[in-house]
Amino acid sequence: MNKTEIQYHADFDQHELVEFCQNDRLTAMIAVHNSNLGPAVGGCRMYPYATEQDALKDVLRLSRGMTYKSALAGLPLGGGKSVIIGDPRVDKTRDLLLAMGEFVDSLGGRYITAEDSGTSVADMAIMAERTKYVSGVLAEDQYGGDPSPYTAYGVLVGIREAVRHRCNTDLKGIRIAVQGAGNVGYHLTRMLLEDGAKVLVADVSEANLNRAAALGAEVISVKDVLKAEVDVLAPCAMGGVINEDSVRDIRAGIVAGAANNQLATRDMGQVLFDRGILYAPDYVINAGGIIDVFFQQRGEHSRDKVVAHVDKIGETLGNIFRESDLARTGTHEVADSMAEAVFMPAAREVA
Ligand code: NAD
Repeated sequence: MNKTEIQYHADFDQHELVEFCQNDRLTAMIAVHNSNLGPAVGGCRMYPYATEQDALKDVLRLSRGMTYKSALAGLPLGGGKSVIIGDPRVDKTRDLLLAMGEFVDSLGGRYITAEDSGTSVADMAIMAERTKYVSGVLAEDQYGGDPSPYTAYGVLVGIREAVRHRCNTDLKGIRIAVQGAGNVGYHLTRMLLEDGAKVLVADVSEANLNRAAALGAEVISVKDVLKAEVDVLAPCAMGGVINEDSVRDIRAGIVAGAANNQLATRDMGQVLFDRGILYAPDYVINAGGIIDVFFQQRGEHSRDKVVAHVDKIGETLGNIFRESDLARTGTHEVADSMAEAVFMPAAREVA
């Protein structure tokens, strides 16, 4: 893939850097979207992408999302992401991870990696043998751990804010459908139940479903979850779930979940708005993980510090919801404008 092809890609958005690595050890891409606020930090996703184009689309969209996410989370970080093409269940070897560490290192700190779908804390430890640009490295051989519980906590805070805004109530008795009971969805289910919500959960993995059911959630089918008759739909599985096929079927009054890039295309945000569905922009509500990673990276991690910072997600979302009501503009548009005012110097000067 050459530079011109990348620059004309529909998801290219003035990215500062897009690098490829293709050899017999590793096929991977790193994208740095913007580093005005600080070094670009973002996870390393491993996935069996069908084509290089699919991988490029993902890394471009995800790295852009990280810029917006860190800006609205009030973190001095830029946006980056990496993808490894391969099936983590069969292709992930120690040598592949070492090669990825070398690839990250070759950028000299412009990109700092972290775990993501298909990679784990243990994988980061292996990459860190070849680069210091791995988040969560607390000391020689210590790693900060899984950020999912903090992501789940941020989503809980965001759901509370959305329900307060829309229904002027707390979560007691509120019906919430969680799509995907993986790392984040499991913790979110537990927290929602503790708040008194009624949780319905769907997952393609029977093991994950059973784990969530054991907490007290009701199981629903994967094909019904998006159209469930609930107050809140929480997508916590994969991106692109709000699309031309699904958007008209959603019956929930609120969409608020952890998944990145929930809107398959930008205009889906407008359709949700036009249908009167309150959408909590994904990169705002799911920032708990990057907040946790930030404090790990600084070597200043404490539960209290992270929780206090994650709590601000509620305030930010409240501002977005109110501005959306006032300006009669979708929350996705409002969030983008607010983030751009933070990370774009030109926007800051005009403001
Ligand atoms: P995960 O892989 O642990 O969990 C995803 C779950 O979704 C799995 O249990 C999987 O079986 C299930 N799933 C897959 N396809 C499904 C389908 N069609 N219907 C229902 N369930 C399905 O991932 P995670 O770490 O829990 O992350 C979930 C989402 O949140 C991802 O989109 C991720 O990018 C995003 N996110 C995660 C974090 C984090 O800290 N882990 C931070 C920010 C954003």
